[in-house]
Amino acid sequence: MKRILVTGGAGFIGSHLCEKLVKEGNEVICLDNFFTGKKKNVKKLMDYDNFELIRHDITKEIYLEIDQIYNLACPASPPHYQYNPIKTAKTSVIGAIHMLGLAKRVHARILQASTSEVYGDPEIHPQPECYRGCVNPIGIRSCYDEGKRMAETLFFDYHREHNTDIKVIRIFNTYGPNMDPNDGRVVSNFIMQALKGEDITVYGDGSQTRSFCYVDDLIEGMYRMMNSKEGFTGPVNLGNPVEYTMLELAEKVIQLTGSKSQIIHMPLPSDDPAQRKPVIDLAQKELGWEPHIMLEDGLQRTIDYFKEIIWKE
Ligand code: NAD
Ligand code: UDP
Repeated sequence: MKRILVTGGAGFIGSHLCEKLVKEGNEVICLDNFFTGKKKNVKKLMDYDNFELIRHDITKEIYLEIDQIYNLACPASPPHYQYNPIKTAKTSVIGAIHMLGLAKRVHARILQASTSEVYGDPEIHPQPECYRGCVNPIGIRSCYDEGKRMAETLFFDYHREHNTDIKVIRIFNTYGPNMDPNDGRVVSNFIMQALKGEDITVYGDGSQTRSFCYVDDLIEGMYRMMNSKEGFTGPVNLGNPVEYTMLELAEKVIQLTGSKSQIIHMPLPSDDPAQRKPVIDLAQKELGWEPHIMLEDGLQRTIDYFKEIIWKE
């Protein structure tokens, strides 16, 4: 069993990861500044002796003795990461430097939660890992996109300069229980709007596409990547290659919730990528991984979760 640090562990994805690692018997340190994460996401883990929660901001140094680091700390929804863009850039860049420094000092293996946003508004479709992206360096999404790109650069420089044992995954849109219902992301917005009988807000004409991965599938891929053979650094795409338009997603949510909500159109935010779909051949080959949970099934599980918490929000 290992000593494992999960930064951003009280967030949506981090909380699922902590649960898997704790239940496997590892010593898990969940580190979070609670900007978008919540204690309630990891509350049920508090009873385990092998789980520890630290309030800390990764833009500050920290000294711990650990074997593995999953670096997830960073707000992920556009409204959250645009709320304080300079802080988002600091979290990605200075946070990566601190976590890489820690990994170097204690010879830990470190995995970076990078993103499909490194491809920006892609001109190549679907996106393989070799595609270098089309990112606006000065737009409202840049703090996140360029921050994550710089973090990847730092990971590979630490690997080349110091032989740091790195793993880089590029996560495509992921959804499921423990998402913050007010985070402004499309899945949480549509489900909450449908459950409340409010209008479903499709931005633009709704023809833009995304590929949605259920969180359990993502966690399995992330775990396999962390424990993959030495020398396989990635970057590797992790996502569900089934693509939907936002209009199709809105219609699916209405159908699954049985809602009477109407679809309305709102302005498309600037730099909103028109299309996004991962090529997952590398994950299939190197990790034997592919997603198994279909959108309807994953959406139903997420709707059930939101139904449970809706009156507490
Ligand atoms: P989230 O916002 O729910 O989780 C991020 C967590 O990091 C939160 O708990 C937050 O409080 C914490 N955090 C933020 N800044 C911090 C700081 N400076 N110090 C310590 N903790 C900090 O988002 P998520 O969806 O769980 O995303 C987790 C990671 O996966 C992020 O790095 C994100 O960029 C990446 N990712 C997510 C998706 C997705 O679709 N969910 C897609 C691509 C990449
Ligand atoms: N979107 C939408 N309505 C909403 C929220 C988002 O139509 O209420 C669109 C958004 O413009 C984007 C897609 O859904 O095209 C995915 O948005 P999200 O913020 O979930 O993630 P992104 O992939 O853009 O980071």
